[in-house]
Amino acid sequence: MHQILLYYKYVNIEDPQALLNEQRSFCESLNLKGRIILSKEGINGTVEGLAEDTQKYISVMLADTRFKDMNFKISEGTGNAFPKLSIKLRNELVSGHLGEDDVDPNVTTGKYITAEQLHELFKSGEEFYIIDMRNDYEHKVGYFKNSILPALSNFRDLPKILGDLEHLKDKKIITVCTGGVRCEKASGYLVKKGFKYVYQLHNGIVTYMEKYPNEDFLGKLYVFDGRVVMGFDTESDKHVIVSNCDKCGKPSENYVDCAYKHCKGHRHFICCTNCYSEDGKPYCSQECFEKSRVEINATR
Ligand SMILES: [Zn+2]
Ligand SMILES: [Zn+2]
Repeated sequence: MHQILLYYKYVNIEDPQALLNEQRSFCESLNLKGRIILSKEGINGTVEGLAEDTQKYISVMLADTRFKDMNFKISEGTGNAFPKLSIKLRNELVSGHLGEDDVDPNVTTGKYITAEQLHELFKSGEEFYIIDMRNDYEHKVGYFKNSILPALSNFRDLPKILGDLEHLKDKKIITVCTGGVRCEKASGYLVKKGFKYVYQLHNGIVTYMEKYPNEDFLGKLYVFDGRVVMGFDTESDKHVIVSNCDKCGKPSENYVDCAYKHCKGHRHFICCTNCYSEDGKPYCSQECFEKSRVEINATR
């Protein structure tokens, strides 16, 4: 059985290059594939491997004092969630620098609210506002009920939507994202901008969904691997579909990549199986379908 791990830790890394070399040989020895970003700020990764290997990865990482309290979100893999292992050095753990307003989450960040606490809050009737810090193509397929879904196409656009949130400066706000890493910075940014009661969902939406499937988070969770979306207990009657097929408009949460290898435009879209092309695959456009035909015929 395969497992996918999602994890991050903001912690000072003295020598990121040395860590990169260690991680590369360690991951290769365990046959892990996925993406790991390393920087002086810490580590942000998602990897897949056989369960015994991912478990070994976790235990060795937790034995490293820098990562001793790192949280690992574990979900079922497919065996081909990632094409390869990619480990990169970056200036930031989360792509998208906030310019002069950039924050160090070790210094400025929102208070943590756990999945259990948020679940209680939903039941309490207290006034609070959830702000989804993910990109628009992510919350398209799933989101917390009554949440604010800013039209972010990239994390670095955060300053552009600040004006839309001004009226919440004195309100209790809770930022959410997939696993929590983006909220470390996004919530810190809001604190820096004068928001008074800023919380961040600890360990992200993935943890909330796992604990309370089909309760307050509606639809499916977009993930940055071959699964594209994931859900818990989605066969249940309580599961609701919040998205529609981009082609026919009927309810669908079948997020796909355009089947044309060299598709340049909207690679990623929602397409119900009724709207697949004659060859049984999804294409974002007739043009992509035709180009794909031409290339297949040319190689025959
Ligand atoms: Zn359709
Ligand atoms: Zn296409």
